[in-house]
Amino acid sequence: MSFLLPENPAREDILAGKPALWLNPYLRDGGINDLALPVRPSQVKEAERNWQRLAPLLCRCFPELEPVGGAIQSQLIEAVALRNALGYGGPEFGRLFVKNDGDLPVAGSIKARGGVYEVFMYALALAEELGIYQEGGDILALAGEEARALFSQYTIAVGSTGNLGMSVGIAARALGFRAVVHMSSDAKQWKVDRLTRQGVEVVQHQADYTTAVEQARIAAEADDRIYFVDDERSELLFFGYSAAASELARQLDRAGVTVDRDRPLLVYLPCGIGGAPGGVAYGLKAIFGDAVHAFFVEPVQSPCALVHMMSGSQSLVSVYDVGLSNKTEADGMAVARMSAFVAEVMKPLLSGIFTVADDDLFRWLWQAQITQGIRLEPSATAGFAGPDFIVNSPQGRSWAERHGFSDKLAEATHVVWTTGGAFVPQEQFWTFMKRGSELA
Ligand SMILES: *Cc1c(COP(=O)(O)O)cnc(C)c1O
Repeated sequence: MSFLLPENPAREDILAGKPALWLNPYLRDGGINDLALPVRPSQVKEAERNWQRLAPLLCRCFPELEPVGGAIQSQLIEAVALRNALGYGGPEFGRLFVKNDGDLPVAGSIKARGGVYEVFMYALALAEELGIYQEGGDILALAGEEARALFSQYTIAVGSTGNLGMSVGIAARALGFRAVVHMSSDAKQWKVDRLTRQGVEVVQHQADYTTAVEQARIAAEADDRIYFVDDERSELLFFGYSAAASELARQLDRAGVTVDRDRPLLVYLPCGIGGAPGGVAYGLKAIFGDAVHAFFVEPVQSPCALVHMMSGSQSLVSVYDVGLSNKTEADGMAVARMSAFVAEVMKPLLSGIFTVADDDLFRWLWQAQITQGIRLEPSATAGFAGPDFIVNSPQGRSWAERHGFSDKLAEATHVVWTTGGAFVPQEQFWTFMKRGSELA
């Protein structure tokens, strides 16, 4: 242990590896436009336009996207039966929705929003550089013979605990690139197998995620035909994710939900390195401003965003620095050190971070499946702790009071962002279910 976290009501539980809610003292009210951040809201709009531009190419590469016009989108599901199973049946919990990114096409996780976007944007830039495509031209040229032959001479590399590798690997192979995925020791075997079958080269490291990323970066730097998707720094990933915000806004509108200062939107986002939840949260802040309250959620032993953002330190603080182990069944969140880029962007925007124990993840996985047929992997369920923390914990109550919500929580809308699951093999899924049912 080499770093002492500052005094805080949540500190003792965090250090003991117990579920806790930390409220971000650096949160700033007011418009996102006034903040001096390294990114701008106009970049969210730009990403939305880029996704539209890519749609015909995505349809061509992934026929399953044809019925939806090339849009990589997920359903917003009202948790009608599930809320009772979770203990959130009472009116004080407002309306509860699941944003089901576990069911996203192409990659079966939230990484479809970031990884696919970065790979396809890189392909566009490369095609322009190689003279086979110009802006305004026929984007389907990128799926043609000539493009494939050229792309096959380039490699796309990434470090991953599993799902980012799956998303980047699938997208890269669909365009004909070589793909190399550096997996951390947390990676599940079925994810490795699935990638290998798709022609992706998998390098398995006996080390954690930060090390896998470092190795991948070093290999890429030595060769200008290797493009490295950098989960610790990438703005393309971040803004690929951010486009999810307008999708949610449309779906909430269709569900008859009004969001304003008196009817707040609370969103719970599972966090690994921070890119996916950060991008989505940034997009939501750009749309809803102070009416949206974004919370990250992390495993009790891997709360890398929590310990770093709580530390107030300039240099990154890892979970090891405060004596935690980074051991969790939630492979999508098994990250010991967050992205410095995301930390900077989220500092004035994030409402708080809470942690969850592994057993709860399996219980929620089982409940989501039996009540509403929602198929999740353990990492994907972490956000279900959110409403309980907000409504029932002393920290949550003081948060509500501070914002003047104490008597208005029934007017709130809670969105639990579920982040992965569709691709979990049946056999593996039933072992998750068995563990969940035993705990329930
Ligand atoms: C990657 C992932 C996350 C977290 O995303 P980060 O960008 O690493 O913060 C959460 N859940 C699942 C299922 C994931 O695959």
